[in-house]
Amino acid sequence: MRTHYAGDLRPGHVGSRVTLCGWVEARRDHGGVVFIDIRDARGLAQVVLDPEQLPEAHRLRSEWVIRVEGSVRERPAGTVNLELPTGEVEVVVDTCEVLSEAEPLPFPIDDRPGGEGAVDEALRLRYRFVDLRRPRMQANLRLRSRLALAVRQAMEDQGFVDVQTPTLTRSTPEGARDFLVPSRKQPGTFYALPQSPQLFKQLLMVAGLDRYYQIATCWRDEDLRADRAYEFVQLDAEASFVGAEEVMAFIEVAVAAGIEAVTGTRPTEFPRMTWHDAMDRYGSDKPDTRFGMALVNLTDLFAASEFRAFAGKTVVGLRLPGGADTPRNRLDAWTDRAKALGGGGLVWMRVEPEALDSPVAKFLSEPEQKGLRDGLGAEPGDLALLVADDDQRLAQTVLGALRLEIGAEVGARPTSLAEPLNLVWVTEFPLFEKLSDEGRPVPSHHPFTAPHPDDVLGLEDDPLGARSLAYDLVVNGVELGSGSVRIHDRELQQRIFALIGIGAEESQARFGFLLDAFRYGVPPHAGFAFGIDRLAMVLAGEQSLRDVIAFPKTQSGADPLTGAPAPVDDRQLRDLGLRAAPPPD
Ligand code: ASP
Repeated sequence: MRTHYAGDLRPGHVGSRVTLCGWVEARRDHGGVVFIDIRDARGLAQVVLDPEQLPEAHRLRSEWVIRVEGSVRERPAGTVNLELPTGEVEVVVDTCEVLSEAEPLPFPIDDRPGGEGAVDEALRLRYRFVDLRRPRMQANLRLRSRLALAVRQAMEDQGFVDVQTPTLTRSTPEGARDFLVPSRKQPGTFYALPQSPQLFKQLLMVAGLDRYYQIATCWRDEDLRADRAYEFVQLDAEASFVGAEEVMAFIEVAVAAGIEAVTGTRPTEFPRMTWHDAMDRYGSDKPDTRFGMALVNLTDLFAASEFRAFAGKTVVGLRLPGGADTPRNRLDAWTDRAKALGGGGLVWMRVEPEALDSPVAKFLSEPEQKGLRDGLGAEPGDLALLVADDDQRLAQTVLGALRLEIGAEVGARPTSLAEPLNLVWVTEFPLFEKLSDEGRPVPSHHPFTAPHPDDVLGLEDDPLGARSLAYDLVVNGVELGSGSVRIHDRELQQRIFALIGIGAEESQARFGFLLDAFRYGVPPHAGFAFGIDRLAMVLAGEQSLRDVIAFPKTQSGADPLTGAPAPVDDRQLRDLGLRAAPPPD
């Protein structure tokens, strides 16, 4: 149907006859001559129609699909548009065919940054096929495709085998709620959509596959956020007879290849940081290491302070270089923010040559004031910000979150998520994240993660103190993915289940197939998974996963395009042995 893409035309084509197909992006009707910008997958070109010869030229409207034939010429002097790659040429059309007409669009295709912001998101998603015409969305989907291909190739090159695992399966505990699919053949029973292929990939190791990977869709029924979707796509991998080091090396190769395919630059630095250090220095297990303002632990300095808000608490501080002139209303706003984040408050101190200017300075002794300056490396003109709490983790995370927000506000934190790219491995995660309401430890990763060998003995005595062999890959403050060395010992696996409150019977019922498999010769194994959507989002510099997913759901989990989720026929329910309960109040 066509000889060229509109977006590909260049001065080298001058004199050629071309046939182009695409959408009418814009139409400028000057009466005696009609200019059309025709848009296709590769860009835009200007075509010129003479209505004397082609009377339908006056009829053409936005977003009609047309096919034009003509010859390429240089644009007349003064009409060249250097902002457009095709802007030095135009096509003088002698044949024009309307392939389909279009009704006026529900919203304009506005590709300026923030241009879509004016359009209600539900409307964008209802007409996603129009929304996806925006060059930025097109670029994002193409970026994603290049990324996935490079990642896949890198895994293949490293000897990994692509295996597809089932989507109708049993629950996989990754800490979220399952999406369930009722069974027709066995009414009253349900499949679960996998939260990840975790159990299958471990079985593939027992099966001797040695190195497995898959670009796998995972389903998790949890509250949606900008960086969370019900269904998301991960590069999922597992390998046998390896430990954390080898897995990290495999993943570095794949991530580097993916990034290089998109940006042209291969990242070479994958520094490591223990979870403990990440919390200490950044107040986060997914640190954005692109800027300073690192946290400093000042607990010891104030252990016996006269100042009751500090004494005996965890005290963490950071230095805002040159921040002493921050106006009082900003300081108050930051303090409110600290409270909203769950902290007791925020202590600020302006660093002056001889003293600290702060409402609380009078409560601090000379040595404490000096220790604070030295500890933070503060210079006159800086601002010190401190958070204190009985709960160490809370003090750290509150100041860590403020660091990101204030860092962005004062211009220390890069505004684009896409650059520079700082990757960092966070290792030695705690095995358990907290105690549940029932007082049971909750796995930080999932219950198949191996404890740190030094902490196995005391697991039951101090579960929250145990480290694990789990590691996360983080980029610019975004968690790309997680992995771990797995437990391959039945006894230890049973101990972990028991600790988290899954008794022998229940573990047999839910994971018996895995535990049984371990009876038949299981190799030590380890693995990882990272989000393809997440990495695409970062590389595209987008703030929301929805901008790199073709057909995402709204924040409330609906798909305005297809109308999912939707009621079904009574008959379908009957077949499934289900009856709809009245909606809860
Ligand atoms: N199954 C894990 C996840 O989806 C990744 C892994 O441990 O390999 O987060």
